[in-house]
Amino acid sequence: MNTVNKPFIAKHPSVLKIPPLGMDAGGLEEDFCRYFNHTLGWDKAIVSSHHVYSSCALVLRDRLVERWRRTQRAYDESGCKQAYYLSLEFLMGRALGNALLNLELTGAGAEAMRNLGLDLEEVQELESDAGLGNGGLGRLAACFLDSCATLQLPVTGYGIRYEYGMFRQKIEQGRQVEEPDHWLRNGNPWEIERPEYAVRIKFGGRSDFYTDPDGDLRARWIDTQDVVAVPYDMPIPGYRNGTVNTLRLWKAAATEEFDLEEFNAGSYTEAVAAKNAAEHITMVLYPNDASENGKELRLRQQYFLASASLQDVLRQWVHKHGDDFSDFAEKSCFQLNDTHPTCAVPELMRLLMDEHGLGWDEAWHITAGTMAYTNHTLLPEALERWPVGMFGRLLPRLLDIIYEINARFTEEVSLRWPGDTDRQRRMSIIEEGDIPQIRMAYLAVVACHSVNGVAALHSELLQQHLFRDFFELWPGKFNNKTNGVTPRRWLASSNPLLSALIDRSIGEAWRTDLSALAALREFADDSEFRAEWRQIKQANKRRLADTVARDCGVEFDPAAMFDVQVKRIHEYKRQLLNVLHVIHLYDRIKRGDVADWTPRCVLIGGKAAPGYAMAKRIIRLVTAVAEVVNHDPATQGRLRLAFLPDYCVSAMEVICPAADLSEQISTAGKEASGTGNMKFMMNGAITIGTLDGANIEIREEVGEKNFFLFGLTAGQVEAARGSYDPASIVAADADLARVMHLLESGHFNLFEPGLFDPIVQSILSPNDPWLTAADFRGFVDAQRKVAEVYRDRERWTRMSILNSAASGKFSSDRTILDYNRDIWQLSQVPAHAE
Ligand SMILES: *Cc1c(COP(=O)(O)O)cnc(C)c1O
Repeated sequence: MNTVNKPFIAKHPSVLKIPPLGMDAGGLEEDFCRYFNHTLGWDKAIVSSHHVYSSCALVLRDRLVERWRRTQRAYDESGCKQAYYLSLEFLMGRALGNALLNLELTGAGAEAMRNLGLDLEEVQELESDAGLGNGGLGRLAACFLDSCATLQLPVTGYGIRYEYGMFRQKIEQGRQVEEPDHWLRNGNPWEIERPEYAVRIKFGGRSDFYTDPDGDLRARWIDTQDVVAVPYDMPIPGYRNGTVNTLRLWKAAATEEFDLEEFNAGSYTEAVAAKNAAEHITMVLYPNDASENGKELRLRQQYFLASASLQDVLRQWVHKHGDDFSDFAEKSCFQLNDTHPTCAVPELMRLLMDEHGLGWDEAWHITAGTMAYTNHTLLPEALERWPVGMFGRLLPRLLDIIYEINARFTEEVSLRWPGDTDRQRRMSIIEEGDIPQIRMAYLAVVACHSVNGVAALHSELLQQHLFRDFFELWPGKFNNKTNGVTPRRWLASSNPLLSALIDRSIGEAWRTDLSALAALREFADDSEFRAEWRQIKQANKRRLADTVARDCGVEFDPAAMFDVQVKRIHEYKRQLLNVLHVIHLYDRIKRGDVADWTPRCVLIGGKAAPGYAMAKRIIRLVTAVAEVVNHDPATQGRLRLAFLPDYCVSAMEVICPAADLSEQISTAGKEASGTGNMKFMMNGAITIGTLDGANIEIREEVGEKNFFLFGLTAGQVEAARGSYDPASIVAADADLARVMHLLESGHFNLFEPGLFDPIVQSILSPNDPWLTAADFRGFVDAQRKVAEVYRDRERWTRMSILNSAASGKFSSDRTILDYNRDIWQLSQVPAHAE
């Protein structure tokens, strides 16, 4: 509640007194009709299906707002510690089904729609995904918000309200084509604009040093070109607990007087153009997953998010406590989702010193005490570095502060290791060279009191390699928080049939305590239960087969094994290895090696970064192989391959309940955690995977007999560098040699000679970092085992049930409880009762 409205409400408290909204079908129906007739669909000519959807959303939003206010009041009045999750990405997907589920309105909502002659499921399909993220990192942020609300933890998400989210992927002539995702075109009924909380963000200009009236040397940032950040709030409902948390997304807008100055100078059109330039900052999400691109606009986005969010938190603090920050660190915590929001470190220092008058030591104590950093990757191409020159032009005052942080840090290193100048250079936040760069990961490690990886292996490798020197200096900072996914979206909502069977068998507690799924273990030996389990999988497979038929024009037989790999297209994830296996199966069919064949439908989906040529070529290979395989009569009833366009959250909700086999085949040591692997496991898919990321923990939980393991270990991958000889691997393996021959001979690209030469070369290169050839034999053998087990339906079903039963650890509720226990230390605060 802002300060302008507070006195008004104090004088007129009755404006807040309205009876609670109806939570039955009748109440929903009545409100729907009112929205539809009065607000949105009043003119026959403008009635469109999206008004139906918008009316539904507004009916639910009202019910969320009631609970939202009570939650925020409870947080406010308890004076509790709060955490802020800073992320450039929130891959939320759709909100309507989630609101229905969490408000316990799915049944009443369906009934209300039926009474009006509408179908709730069709209405849900009208919502576009909020695709404000690339992949796992952004989806993790979304799952975390769901878990925090469900656990009644006072956590606010801060992000950017991109006008255009993740591009929509079309496939034309076998190639990826990107289309802009204007997800806000029809408005966003879930958001509430809060212009009263807009803040100014500075760019450019210079630092000015002056002596204040007390005789202290101070700095200020002047001659800046400012942009306004306007917040839009999205409600984040907890699961049936009356709690609604906030995701606050910032949109960039021009300042008013900026326009005026230009106008007075007589350049009206330039002023309007400048307005446009300001708004560019939040125009589009950068579509790069696990790689940085070094663009200045991206740095602007990062600083924009960090500054707006910190100013927002500090404004609320000052409103309550004035300029007394002595308790601030005890009451606040910022979690940085990767290095993307790391500008928050120097920005908090700047705000505390330049705007609130604190000294360096006091400001540093608060900054280090409140900031925590989550690392998401070891891949060198993903580690953010900003050229000092660019950074200093855009954010000169922040650069001063980073230099000072580095100077003090370097002194600490030299005291710990006197004379070790090599180590000082290695650990410096500034990387020297022709173009000196700021190493954002080092800045985050130096400033934050907690540094975590996202799976046990990943956290271990961080300590041994990327942050080795820092681990020696501060071993206590480093910890692991294995990722998780929310069982509400990824099981309860996406797989209603399986959820109902689980409810009937073991009760409903699993929705908020996923470890309760362990009770399913005893049902694995119950043949009637297994038959039901199988029937549900079949129904889910039919639903996916419909999608594949519609979007790919390929017929999948639900009786066949569904072998699925969906994730961003990246060489380290090795979609290529998957395709090599499909080519191998095709080759076996063509050679008549089909005794005891297990019919298999292979589904691959995912987006390639628009500038990532090799990833796009791999998509082209999948579609080319699919074309040949699917049209060869010999493969009929044995093998199908399809590339599913536009993989996104709502697609995954259809895919993961229908998969038999989950492909998690990254080069060991490269996938930080993976979360797709967890969604599949929960829904009873069995994993074929390497010892990478969270696969290791999945295998530990489910037992080695219920996991198809293959491939080199991270240690072996590391050791192979320098001695890797793929040509001799190919020569020694007749199956691989035939696959390579089919690729080289142009069998899949008769009309585009040379199309796949770069792919062949990458496999045959001794410098192939992904070691595709090295893992081919192990993968093919493991797949043979998969096929054999799948033919034993009872055995497969038992393994499927055991996978679901063992997935309890991979709830994001567990992950969030770990963050809270070790890093945030928040109390659970229930929302006020009505
Ligand atoms: C879960 C998810 C991911 C992450 O998948 P990984 O296999 O862990 O890379 C990416 N995109 C979407 C849409 C997801 O739902």
